[in-house]
Amino acid sequence: MVAETEVRNVQLLIAGKLVDSAGGETFESTNPASNETIASVAKAGKEDVDRAVSAARKAFDEGPWPKMSPYERGRVIQRIADRIRERADEIARLESMDSGKPFARAKGEIMASATVFDYYAGAGDKFFGDTIPMGDSVLNFTLREPIGVAAQIVPWNFPFMMASWKVAPALATGCTIILKPASNTPLSAVMLGEICYEAGVPEGVVNVLPGPGGEIGEYMSAHPLIDKIAFTGETATGAKILKASADTIKKVSLELGGKSPNIVFADADLEKAASSAVQAAYGNSGQVCTARTRLFLGKQQYDEFMSLLVNATESFTVGDPMDPKTLMGPVISQSQYDKITEYITIGKTEGAELVYGGGRPSALENGNFLQPTIFSQVSNDMRIAREEIFGPVLSVIPFEDEEEVIRMANANDYGLASSVWTQDVNKALRVAKGLRAGMVAVNSNGGPGVFGPFGGYKKSGIGRELGMHGMELYTQVKNVYIDLS
Ligand code: NDP
Repeated sequence: MVAETEVRNVQLLIAGKLVDSAGGETFESTNPASNETIASVAKAGKEDVDRAVSAARKAFDEGPWPKMSPYERGRVIQRIADRIRERADEIARLESMDSGKPFARAKGEIMASATVFDYYAGAGDKFFGDTIPMGDSVLNFTLREPIGVAAQIVPWNFPFMMASWKVAPALATGCTIILKPASNTPLSAVMLGEICYEAGVPEGVVNVLPGPGGEIGEYMSAHPLIDKIAFTGETATGAKILKASADTIKKVSLELGGKSPNIVFADADLEKAASSAVQAAYGNSGQVCTARTRLFLGKQQYDEFMSLLVNATESFTVGDPMDPKTLMGPVISQSQYDKITEYITIGKTEGAELVYGGGRPSALENGNFLQPTIFSQVSNDMRIAREEIFGPVLSVIPFEDEEEVIRMANANDYGLASSVWTQDVNKALRVAKGLRAGMVAVNSNGGPGVFGPFGGYKKSGIGRELGMHGMELYTQVKNVYIDLS
């Protein structure tokens, strides 16, 4: 498969129409595998936010979307899922070029996004309030009502999928949406917006605004006519959003960074754990908030596991995202490349042992390509063990026993995902309970996908996306008390 070379023009989507930005400004989107320009994108400014807010407000306040039956909304959402599947190759090609992720991986994410819409297509009519027994003279019940206009700000690591995680439940609850993609990867979000209209969402329900987060993201966070902000990205940005939204008391949900532990005990299936560990550390070039970037390894089997790990890393092929053999593409941008290589220098300076990678693969001179990189004998207080690098860099940390590893795994500002590998079910459960993280996987680095809650403890966020928890983020509870006497 060959990447397209034509530069496309991408517009904003406001009130169901593709439009230029009010100021006529544009920015470029580049392909990280070549750093060539692939699109000229309309750059939304504050005036465009106001236009989108007024469209989303009208669609919410006057309807028909929030007033429709949840079942009817579900039929529209199901058509979005179907349309995503029909256009999956086209979206995946665009996503791969915009983000650098291997085409096969992008295709998997697009299909997973369709499943998210399937799930929420059937969720709206199964998410309801309670009747609270208070005796014969009172009827007391609760209603679940949509929050209103939701601004959704998404990152560049899973552009289409992160947008889907947010758009699908918001639609299911009857909210209206302003979606802001990351400036590094603005293309597929506009396509998702178009698909929503092809599927039949009414005018103004979905609006998509590519544009600079520091300007329009901040403006949306403080906007008095926006009711809710849902954000995925860096913890520092999440803190800025909380501050900017404070005066308007917005409902805010945040999916932030991670430094997730992967704990391998001596009695684990070591081969399975090693092949899973590389996917969990380098998949998507390590640009994953749940990446298992701290590998805690029991001292008893340290050397044996390290040789399995290095072998598995050697076969983690880096290359052209359009080549079906490629498992890892470039990182998103030159600045991300520089940030990661700076961390590699820090690791060496801190005294960690570089056992694999650490630089650019020899055959790939252009684009933002890096080798998967392993540091061994890392101590848990080094910066490479504490901070989110967001690149294919794995820190292996030796441990003595269960108590010590739980303590070390928890000694971090983040608490997103975690894994434990052991054949001892009691030990697995003790560790699972001991970890301060929103998600624990046992003998796996995976998770339940759309069917379970996704989110973090500590500085990894506020709230849970996916599953029925995702519906809570876009609704509020009203109590109705009726005196029957
Ligand atoms: P950001 O958190 O800055 O970006 C995520 C989204 O927020 C983008 O749409 C961005 O817009 C927007 N944004 C930026 N500033 C603001 C603001 N003040 N108010 C509201 N929205 C804003 O991440 P970056 O893309 O800058 O990446 C930096 C680092 O963040 C990475 O190196 C990585 O460590 C981490 N990261 C973590 C992710 C995660 O899932 N945990 C995802 C992505 C990044 P724009 O793109 O226009 O700046």
